[in-house]
Amino acid sequence: MRSAVKPLLLAVMLALHGCGSSSDSNQAGPVDNGRSADTGGAATGSGSGSSGSGGSSSGGDGSSAAQGPWVLNDGSQRSRFILEQNTGLGVLVNVQSVSTESTNSGDFTRVIASGIPDYQVLATADLIAALNSRPKAGSDFNGGSVSISEGEVIDFGQDIGFASNNSCETNAGYGYWPPGPVCPEELDRDAYLPQQPEETDEDCETGLGVIGLWVNGTSVYNWGDGQSYSNQGTWYNLAPIAEQYDVDICGGHAAQGDYHHHFYSSCLADMVDDAGNGHSPIYGYAADGYPIYGPWFEDGQLAISAWVTRDYSADSTTGCGVDNQRSCTLVDPYDVSRGVQSASRGPDVGAAVTTLSRNTLEAYSGYYHEDYYWDAALTAQGGAYLDQYNGHDHDDLGYHYHVTVTEEGGKLTPAYPFIIGDRFAGKLQDNSLAQCSAGAGRPF
Ligand SMILES: [Zn+2]
Ligand SMILES: [Zn+2]
Repeated sequence: MRSAVKPLLLAVMLALHGCGSSSDSNQAGPVDNGRSADTGGAATGSGSGSSGSGGSSSGGDGSSAAQGPWVLNDGSQRSRFILEQNTGLGVLVNVQSVSTESTNSGDFTRVIASGIPDYQVLATADLIAALNSRPKAGSDFNGGSVSISEGEVIDFGQDIGFASNNSCETNAGYGYWPPGPVCPEELDRDAYLPQQPEETDEDCETGLGVIGLWVNGTSVYNWGDGQSYSNQGTWYNLAPIAEQYDVDICGGHAAQGDYHHHFYSSCLADMVDDAGNGHSPIYGYAADGYPIYGPWFEDGQLAISAWVTRDYSADSTTGCGVDNQRSCTLVDPYDVSRGVQSASRGPDVGAAVTTLSRNTLEAYSGYYHEDYYWDAALTAQGGAYLDQYNGHDHDDLGYHYHVTVTEEGGKLTPAYPFIIGDRFAGKLQDNSLAQCSAGAGRPF
């Protein structure tokens, strides 16, 4: 899709195909995505060793008042591996222009971008080991293992040996993406973001497709990939977990050509120079205009999601009466005191499930969307704790969202709801990138 992404259409297509699944027209139904560039080592690892990309594109450190934090490509820098279809030249990377436009409904930041970033990743021993320890490395890579050497700097779209989707072809990133997802294409993204975001009084659910923009002009997607257990419309997959082997070494992939991140990307963190020694900088903006900051609240302290997982013990108020059984959902995930209601049966907690890419994962509590509820008592503690929208307001920053992760031994793991909560905190204007969805994770 070369034109601006149309969220509703995209969402419908995603609902049919799943955002990480192949959209090859000759492949019906679930396909072997087989992606396995372990996000554990790459996308989520703070030590994936990006060499600090963005150095060659101006604006990466940038904070001039006019351009804000956007990663502007004012040097006509082009991608080495993702080429324009007509000219054969590399796609112009990152953000092409940022301006202010005034309309009847206020001032907007207008962002024009190609959707192709210029991430670079240093191939460390850890990264190579993580890639080669993917459960399906033998078939995920054409040669059975990754084809890069330690110390090499990998450019976005460079062939590192993956058996990518056929649609990727030469000059479209073949070999950089794990098998399954289609490859990203140049987008004519022309987005308007409100400069004076307003709180909304609606329950405006985020949907599938684009819900915001990262500072390099790539897309922010929510937690979902449109897939539910046995396609029953309950027990929805969380893309950051179910598709952990279906993303590249920067924690991203494409759907209908639209390159996006559903969760924290160490490559984006490097691009904005976030070393975690203070409140993170801005990583992007939600469609409602509120900024999205990185995971850090202050030096050594992450921002903390107030969404917690259900206890599926027999005697728990959030369980279903039988130990580990998923046969009920919460009446209201924003008010756990309202109890549970019966639902179609999902896998027991701890059972093994097979993903679209035929990887086997454990369905612990936290694997599915319906496993979470908002704990208002955590939000009430303030400080690093976020609200139900995954945001807060402190110091002189105004209201803002945070990308959320947990940290253990230096490794960062995406934490639900990952970026923006299930609902937008702010109002979506008529010219917004996104629309309120009929329901998070539910079919349109
Ligand atoms: Zn996706
Ligand atoms: Zn904050």
